[in-house]
Amino acid sequence: MKTWKGRVVVALGGNALGDTLPEQMDAVKLTAKTIVDLIAEGWQVIVSHGNGPQVGLINNAMAALSRENPRHPNTPLSVCVAMSQAYIGYDLQNAIREELNRREETKANPVSVATVITQVEVDPYDEAFLSSDKPIGHYMTREQAAFAAQQYGYQMREYGDKGWRRVVPSPRPQRIVEVDTIRTLADAGQMVIACGGGGIPVVRQKEGHLQGTAAVIDKDFCAALLAEELQADALLILTNVEKVALNYGKPEQKWLDQLDPNQIRSYAGQGQFAAGSMLPKVLAAMEFVEDGEDRVAIITQLEKASDALNGRTGTRIVGHS
Ligand code: ADP
Ligand code: MG
Repeated sequence: MKTWKGRVVVALGGNALGDTLPEQMDAVKLTAKTIVDLIAEGWQVIVSHGNGPQVGLINNAMAALSRENPRHPNTPLSVCVAMSQAYIGYDLQNAIREELNRREETKANPVSVATVITQVEVDPYDEAFLSSDKPIGHYMTREQAAFAAQQYGYQMREYGDKGWRRVVPSPRPQRIVEVDTIRTLADAGQMVIACGGGGIPVVRQKEGHLQGTAAVIDKDFCAALLAEELQADALLILTNVEKVALNYGKPEQKWLDQLDPNQIRSYAGQGQFAAGSMLPKVLAAMEFVEDGEDRVAIITQLEKASDALNGRTGTRIVGHS
């Protein structure tokens, strides 16, 4: 069997997929190049990704269907997440397969690529269920919001002049239901796309039934759990900034080459990392490196993946020395 340089879980951000169907068709080509670069360098790659715009458009399409035809009840958010995993996985696995087959270095011995529809258990007593913080879907007028609240039981929040949005809880991922399948494929040298959109959130009920729940799991936390479960050497969080910064967007902004857990805790306490964007990334990176020895987590820009994994850029998060 092939020997790898190391195992890396890659978490793709929104810029790796675009916002619309044609944008995604285009974006996955560059994303596939980035991933195949890593494979060509000898890394074993497991891919995870976000799904914000995609799950939003699926949710809207399904809502339109139920408005048009009352025979179709509203589609649960968990089902929309499952649809988004399949749709994104379909585009990604094809783009990656084509890129593997195109390149001299990889075409002789191409790795197989498949998407695993992944459910992720959350704790029904997670504090996140007490406050819905995560906005999803499009903005609505006051009347539309009132209708959605009454008709579907949605929790709605007003966002100033922009209007109203549905909000859902964002609990922590506890257990990846299909993790044995993912591990078996990875151990056999195959490439897996898993935990899309942070996974389909489910709650385990009596007799083992997994009940989908109206929540959204943060994709960076879920990727960190996946990396932990697969005993990965590295967690590579690919987004649209090359490095993490202090005083981000301010005149005294300073890009960081390295962070350790103590620094992350103290900077997070100062509010240096925005909630809902950079904060989950640094916290996920910290959890991964703290849970094992000799691990690294890197936050960088999609285009810089290879440079960052080879130590030339990005913000590296390492355990306490
Ligand atoms: P993704 O889709 O990759 O998860 P996000 O928008 O959630 O992307 O997170 C990346 C964004 O985090 C950056 O575009 C940047 O605007 C923002 N950000 C917030 N705080 C910081 C920081 N301290 N350093 C760098 N980027 C930050
Ligand atoms: Mg994000």
